[in-house]
Amino acid sequence: MSKQLNVALIGNPNTGKTSVFNALTGLNQKVGNYPGITVDKKQGICKLSRGVKAHILDLPGTYSLNASSLDENVVIELLLNKNDKDYPDVAIIVSDVENLKRNLLLFTQIKDLKIPTILVINMSDLMTRKGISLDIELLEAKLHTKIALVSTRKNRGIDELKQLIENYKTISTQACLDTTTIDEAYFQSLQKAFPNQDVYKLWLVITQDANFGKINRQELDVSKFKTKSNQELKRLQQKEAIKRYQFINTILKEGQTIDRSKATDLRSKLDRLLIHKVWGYVIFFVILLTIFQAIYDWATVPMDLIDTTFASLAEWVKNTFPGGGMVTDLVAEGIVSGIGGIVIFIPQIAFLFLFISILEESGYMSRVVFLMDRVMRRFGLSGKSLVPLISGTACAIPAVMATRNIENWKERLITILVVPFTTCSARLPVYLIIIALVIPEGSIIGLNYQALVLMALYLLGFGMAILSAYILDRILKTKHKTFFVVEMPNYKLPLLKNVIITVIEKTKTFVFEAGKIILAISIILWVLASYGPGDKFNNAESYVETSATQSTFERDDQIAAFKLEHSYIGIVGKTIEPLIKPLGYDWKVGIGLVASFAAREVFVGTLATIYSVGSANEGENIDTIKTKMANETYADGTKVFTLASGISLLLFYAFAMQCMSTLAIVKRETKSWKWPILQLIGMTAIAYICALIAFQFLK
Ligand code: GDP
Ligand code: MG
Repeated sequence: MSKQLNVALIGNPNTGKTSVFNALTGLNQKVGNYPGITVDKKQGICKLSRGVKAHILDLPGTYSLNASSLDENVVIELLLNKNDKDYPDVAIIVSDVENLKRNLLLFTQIKDLKIPTILVINMSDLMTRKGISLDIELLEAKLHTKIALVSTRKNRGIDELKQLIENYKTISTQACLDTTTIDEAYFQSLQKAFPNQDVYKLWLVITQDANFGKINRQELDVSKFKTKSNQELKRLQQKEAIKRYQFINTILKEGQTIDRSKATDLRSKLDRLLIHKVWGYVIFFVILLTIFQAIYDWATVPMDLIDTTFASLAEWVKNTFPGGGMVTDLVAEGIVSGIGGIVIFIPQIAFLFLFISILEESGYMSRVVFLMDRVMRRFGLSGKSLVPLISGTACAIPAVMATRNIENWKERLITILVVPFTTCSARLPVYLIIIALVIPEGSIIGLNYQALVLMALYLLGFGMAILSAYILDRILKTKHKTFFVVEMPNYKLPLLKNVIITVIEKTKTFVFEAGKIILAISIILWVLASYGPGDKFNNAESYVETSATQSTFERDDQIAAFKLEHSYIGIVGKTIEPLIKPLGYDWKVGIGLVASFAAREVFVGTLATIYSVGSANEGENIDTIKTKMANETYADGTKVFTLASGISLLLFYAFAMQCMSTLAIVKRETKSWKWPILQLIGMTAIAYICALIAFQFLK
């Protein structure tokens, strides 16, 4: 009877062990149980040449010889027990070509047990698709082994593998790692205690006992050698893994090249396009354009509906409780129009976050982060800064908090300082109303002018953030660069549920966080605008001159305007008028600006209140805010909101730091008042200068 050759198939789960097993054994298989546990034990016979028969054993998948599960324990028990009838004469480590690094950890461990070991690199059919190439000769030399490049799917390399099995005696049993380097003193004393044993084997037995309690191996009773606690053993195991990975990394650096640009699978193809040096940016730009276009077109219907609903609601309040009492006015003009000013932006905010969350869910956002890392690095930011900058389109507050995962302090600080430049949802209402006022309707090659301007404003905010980051990067002292690897998730269809939850959450945040402030300030402003000090406000009627040709409506209008001018808020607005005149704003806009320094979203509500108050006594329908603003003129009849003053105002809002809550959060995150104060002064100065230049140039 010829001697039977024992072959064990070992490898990480899903590397194709069973496939290799099937390829080697064909129909000569039987399935049983490992004694004592219900894990499949597959055995089969592989006929080699010259009548040699190999007994093949398909073992459960295992990641390493530091067992943590019963499945893995089966493999180690076998390899540690030379007396087991299945103890392998040769071990075949099945690895898959895509995860070679992880697979090789197990390979080096088994190799170090001095068992003749063959390395099967399976799934070689994927190599071209994944852009992987291997230097097999070099790998064989460095790993002291023989390699079979196999594809069970394409039935390649199996004959070569059989050859290697047959000639297993020629395979070197040289170890990969000098075990004693893990902890010299410990391993030397271990060797001294068991002079006839292999230290690595002893080490495995000891760690095995630590994990599973004493196991039945009379020849290797290590129970008397307990000089380290389980915790110390765990630490040494980690050290071992690190040393092995260092060994593997150096080898793979030479022996393996992965060139994703040569890969041809769908994911790689998509990646190559989406993070392409030119097309990547073009595609990102087109996607942004589409999103802003959609925000404009799709949101119009619900917005018009909300607009008219709140207009008729205010009218209904006035008609139902006539007499113009203070409470009626407060409700109709302060509260209803204040709430209307918040609710009207829900459709657009919801659409924006619908798109952002779809981009995130689909895996595309990670590509954008990767794409942007190239750009951001040059400006003292990290690719990770993109997430705060994009979250900044919702609100600077969560965005500032999102900088916490940027490891480098300088990059983080710069990100915090520039994030408020990105267009937050609070700016959106201001932008929308001013764009509607001063940018003509119409389109060029199917693109809506107003949508284009809105997108330009988003890009402008982003651009200013990047530019200031660049400047800050030069100015700020500390110099540390970090490198990071973006995890690229697989592409997948966004889950509707996740998308909807994000949209609802963000919209709720806007309505309740920003909305609270908007409503509160709307009411305060209504009060400030409805009351004033002194004789001029209280006896406005006697101050307004009457001419014979005037109708009562016109006279009422004039009185109302006169009153507003002399109300508390009018006084503030007038006081700052000389300062903002060069920017193209009158004192009413000034009032809006003053109110906005608490939070910019109140601008629209403020103007709504102010203009509603102005025509409160007419008894006619309450107009929409937009019409009122459009009709607003100076004393000489020229319009207040022109292209020049509109652009100037847009720029001011784009750049000014008008958010107390953001200042507060920056103070908290930087633990100093220095940075928020710098932010406030710097941003407001930039805003003023840009608005000034724009107005003087355009008027
Ligand atoms: P095991 O868990 O290690 O026993 O692996 P299996 O033999 O069950 O295979 C795991 C997966 O890899 C299965 O889906 C196989 O179809 C697949 N697979 C196995 N060999 C190859 C191969 O050569 N090429 C490719 N592309 N896939 C393979
Ligand atoms: Mg299997």
